[in-house]
Amino acid sequence: MAVAHPVSDVFERVESEVRSYCRCWPALFDRAHGSTLYDEHHRPYLDFFSGAGALNYGHNNPVLKRALLDYIERDGITHALDMSTAAKRTFLETFQETVLEPRELPYKVMFPGPAGTTAVEAALKLARKVKGREGIVFFSNAFHGMSLGSLAVTGNASKRAGAGVPLVHATPMPYDDRSDGRARGFHWFDRLLASEGSGLDIPAAVIVETVQGEGGINVARAEWLHDLAQLCRRRDMLMIVDDIQMGCGRTGRFFSFEEAGITPDIVTLSKSVSGYGLPMAMTLFRPELDVWEPGEHNGTFRGFNPAFVTATAALEEYWSDGWLEKQTLARGERVEQVLRAVAADRPGSALDVRGRGLAWGMEFADPSRATAVCARAFELGLLLETSGPQDQVAKLLPPLTIADEELEHGLVLFSRAVRETEPPRSVGRR
Ligand code: PLP
Repeated sequence: MAVAHPVSDVFERVESEVRSYCRCWPALFDRAHGSTLYDEHHRPYLDFFSGAGALNYGHNNPVLKRALLDYIERDGITHALDMSTAAKRTFLETFQETVLEPRELPYKVMFPGPAGTTAVEAALKLARKVKGREGIVFFSNAFHGMSLGSLAVTGNASKRAGAGVPLVHATPMPYDDRSDGRARGFHWFDRLLASEGSGLDIPAAVIVETVQGEGGINVARAEWLHDLAQLCRRRDMLMIVDDIQMGCGRTGRFFSFEEAGITPDIVTLSKSVSGYGLPMAMTLFRPELDVWEPGEHNGTFRGFNPAFVTATAALEEYWSDGWLEKQTLARGERVEQVLRAVAADRPGSALDVRGRGLAWGMEFADPSRATAVCARAFELGLLLETSGPQDQVAKLLPPLTIADEELEHGLVLFSRAVRETEPPRSVGRR
């Protein structure tokens, strides 16, 4: 089917060349509901992208929308920096009762700014201040955000190149990599820490994603995360888990690290925490790490109260019992089953299928195939993006609230996109 292009060239004329998603998806989006976006010609697009993980509960979720409309209607506070407000009080009480207490997590909560990268910046600053050390260890293929501190702990070469200044005080280590069939632990890292001559000063912290979303849906084993937590304790480093993309139920439980049975020292959350796609970020830390002076870290948009309202509604709706977690895991199994069948059908082209919960990726032997698959999927009415350092992975991130029929339909469209981008089979030699 021919793809309708935007009717206006204002984007070309006025908006910077830096924009990217609109290049993959040349449509002019106008409305969205649940798991579907509509362009201005009313053409539907099934969403396997979920606002890069910011829309775990779908678009314009009716429960969250009602709470938001009521709040706006009664002239509830919108902007408040870090003033105390009724909306923030209700959110903090609900977060404590629904998320922290049932998991026996002792964290204090800080609102560092509107975006994920502000939560990471605050986490890094705090770790350095607590430990009085500069270094941070991060992992290959990590993505932690685009501001300079976050970029210094991000692996992707092209993103790092954009910094324009040296990215310092950060050391990469290999992520849990089993691509050659061997599981590696922290032997080398530990040796570097133990040796006076290694050149690696003891870092303030390590920062890690349990599943690397932007890095190609790389899934760390629970044992690996557990061993990392132990290493941190033994070598006096803080453990920061960046749960910005994989938190809020994306992998099943509210926090993605719960499965590994660890309690990180610091946790970053953003994306789906407001539940409605409204900007909101949080840095959580053990109470004894709360060494901030008042105002030492601040920002104008830390207290966007409509986000507190929708975040509260999302916690009440989805996290006061365990059904969403169970549903996510069951749907994840279904996605895995279909992806493995697609891969088994095409052993030469699909290299790997991996994921957890409702975050899945299919890696292609020819990296350009992933882009071709996403482009074909768009033509078929399905939105999904690529990830990984070479964009070699097609990434499936449907809303957690997607209906079963929509999930099945999306998987059919994905399978078609893979099939229809298959290069013609070469004729064997006689
Ligand atoms: N950390 C992780 C794991 C992410 O996936 C992202 C964004 O994709 C960020 C940090 C940065 O968040 P933001 O784009 O809101 O600054």
